Amino acid sequence: MTKDLAAFAAENGVKYFMISFTDLFGGQRAKLVPAQAIADMQEDGAGFAGFATYLDMTPAHPDMLAVPDPSSVIQLPWKPEVAWVAANPMMEGQDVAQAPRNVLRRLIAEAADEGLHVKTGIEAEYFLLTPDGSALSDEYDTAAKPCYEQQAVMRRYDVVREICDYMLDLGWGPYQNDHEDANGQFEMNWEFDDALVTADRHSFFKFMTKSVAEAHGFRATFMPKPVEGLTGNGCHAHISVWDAPGADAKTNIFATDTASGSATAELGLSDRGAHFLGGIMKHASAMAAITNPTVNSYKRINAPRTTSGATWAPNTVTWTGNNRTHMVRVPGPGRFELRLPDGAVNPYLLQAVIIAAGLSGIRSKADPGKRHDIDMYAEGHKVRGAPKLPLNMLDALRTYHRDKDLRGMMGEEFSTAFLKLKRQEWDSYASHFSQWEKDNTLDI
Ligand SMILES: [Mg+2]
Repeated sequence: MTKDLAAFAAENGVKYFMISFTDLFGGQRAKLVPAQAIADMQEDGAGFAGFATYLDMTPAHPDMLAVPDPSSVIQLPWKPEVAWVAANPMMEGQDVAQAPRNVLRRLIAEAADEGLHVKTGIEAEYFLLTPDGSALSDEYDTAAKPCYEQQAVMRRYDVVREICDYMLDLGWGPYQNDHEDANGQFEMNWEFDDALVTADRHSFFKFMTKSVAEAHGFRATFMPKPVEGLTGNGCHAHISVWDAPGADAKTNIFATDTASGSATAELGLSDRGAHFLGGIMKHASAMAAITNPTVNSYKRINAPRTTSGATWAPNTVTWTGNNRTHMVRVPGPGRFELRLPDGAVNPYLLQAVIIAAGLSGIRSKADPGKRHDIDMYAEGHKVRGAPKLPLNMLDALRTYHRDKDLRGMMGEEFSTAFLKLKRQEWDSYASHFSQWEKDNTLDI
């Protein structure tokens, strides 16, 4: 549905639009455009200097024009005179191929050509901290097993309720909120939808949660492991593939045409569902460069046991039925949950890499391999031949670089740009002196 943004402004009392695009590191960049100027901007886009953001460009590049996608427009529930709209970066009349939303749009179109329409739901976890980020916002939140703590969730009721009310107003179908497994940690769930819709909502959710937290004198963080020893912020994705997009979807392709006899069929996953899963399993270690994109991400996966008793994060490329200790869980027929991504994941690249790996799996009829019905945290050492996930960001970047198939599916221009900027980030980290090395090397 194409919307006329000027008419949208007049009907809804919108005074300003935030024309927003997302860079390679997941940063949301926007220009505030008065409603009087939106008609031209809807046509031509808002101008940005790409080099000033995390995109692989130089100061000599021409203007990058972020062209708003009117189907994504959201009036800020906490400031209704402003409307946010996701934009597609263009340069000299072409889509900027390295821009994350364009990578996702291209992969959605490729999958659609093969009759495949990916729908996902995500579980965005976050911590509420003091404004300087140094401590949890709630000094009473100290239980050893704080998950689902009713006392603790009610101490932050005003924040949680406000965010949930806004999601209700926006029609996202939120259905539950809880205190999560770490002290200071929360999770809010809303209905699954088409990959692009989920990516836009995921972006907006982060913006909204940070904004509401700030208004209450707190700081919300999606950092993968903000507190040593506590469970980290995951961003689990629930995946299914349908016969059509949006409300036209009638048949879940993961739940039909299931041949009997396989380990996946026993759990209600069709042959194409099994191949999609096979693609995820095959490319998982390389995917980590996207799904776990920061130095800090590797303090969440491969982590030692937390004070609550479990990390709830995977360490090995394995899958199973309804069991949260593996990288992939098949909780019921017709869908599966990828537990690898963390809170630092770029919302658009998360959806893109799921489609890229899954589509590659369907095309090559990939086999997901053996199902391991064990507690991976207690018995993981018994699994033979399953790859360990990357141990750090450099390991993940190198694995992504070696995975020609996934790199090509994500696009060479994107992959080259992403690897270049992430290598620079790694080099910056590696040249940083830490107290740990002094403590462990001073007297050598
Ligand atoms: Mg959770």
